[in-house]
Amino acid sequence: MIRRKTQREIDVMFLAGQIVAKVLKVLQEMVVPGISTFDLDQKAEELIRNLGARPAFKGYNGFPGSICISINEEVIHGIPKKSVKIKEGDIVKIDIGAEYNGYYADSATTIPVGKVSPEVENLLEVGRKALEIGISNAKPGNHLSDISHSIESFVLAHNMSVVKSFVGHGIGRELHEEPQVPNYGPPGTGPILEPGIALAIEPMVNLGKEDVVILKDGWTVITRDKKPSCHFEHTVIVQDGEPLITTRLK
Ligand code: MG
Ligand code: MG
Repeated sequence: MIRRKTQREIDVMFLAGQIVAKVLKVLQEMVVPGISTFDLDQKAEELIRNLGARPAFKGYNGFPGSICISINEEVIHGIPKKSVKIKEGDIVKIDIGAEYNGYYADSATTIPVGKVSPEVENLLEVGRKALEIGISNAKPGNHLSDISHSIESFVLAHNMSVVKSFVGHGIGRELHEEPQVPNYGPPGTGPILEPGIALAIEPMVNLGKEDVVILKDGWTVITRDKKPSCHFEHTVIVQDGEPLITTRLK
């Protein structure tokens, strides 16, 4: 069952989204060579709590960090560690979730550190645009899979691949709600979108093949071919006209 959010819920979800957006913005500026992913995690937790929210990933199914930080071939769910330091040329994925007054927001971005190769720059550009295209299809009357299909076709047209083993999701009173939002599939299937449906849309785009594996830590998802991957995510709420992107800073 997909439950449409009331206006009151949408207002709270917007505030939750703005908290995530603010923290993500500060964190992006802190991603410089030499800083450890543990230090980034500590700062994120402090900021989230100071803004009156709770880091949604901390303890989620036992996840040890407050946020996920995944580097280069790591796609998602990287665990922050003191031993992992950011280096020049890395691409760093930061994924932040927060719960505020009982409602969730979830957003991720990929940050290049200093100079990256033209092909990696292109990867980030394709990932960023894939998310925008997905969001532009989150409108009343569309089928859910129109979002999925628009993302996949854009990525494939650039000779890259989308991860299929992990998908976007509904969001609201829970971090993960129905429906699942795959980044692939045919158009015109699944539920019809209506105002008040809240979705975390999150393409994971690989420069190489789509296959991923989970490391022995039980969390970190990496590309099987070890080629770089990017991840961009926003929490959006379908409404008449353009969707409300709660995690885009106003
Ligand atoms: Mg996320
Ligand atoms: Mg998510």
